Amino acid sequence: MIKVVTDTVERIEISYVCPSHHEFSRIFVAGVTVPPTWDCPRCGKLARLTGSDPSTGAPHPEPDEVDEGGRTPWDILMERRTIADLDKELSARARSLRADPPATDEDRDWAEDRLAA
Ligand SMILES: [Zn+2]
Repeated sequence: MIKVVTDTVERIEISYVCPSHHEFSRIFVAGVTVPPTWDCPRCGKLARLTGSDPSTGAPHPEPDEVDEGGRTPWDILMERRTIADLDKELSARARSLRADPPATDEDRDWAEDRLAA
């Protein structure tokens, strides 16, 4: 039997900006607690929320005001992966980058930083 699921979940787009001014956004289900920080996909620095809370219209709290009990991106990662898993992923990715180097200067810089570590 095929079960048809109708997707009626409301989603919100949340914007982040990192210290290097890279802006990006992530989509969340409306009503969930949005992480106050997210690793920048371009440089890896810790990005912070921009703009205001769509549910209240109030500006996002400063990082110092963020709930101490809030999970960090690292906490969330560690709920899904182990260090051994991450080592395996990193090794596989490094092998892939050595075999097929990235095309752009920015990607190449990113890869060289990782391969040097
Ligand atoms: Zn960045």
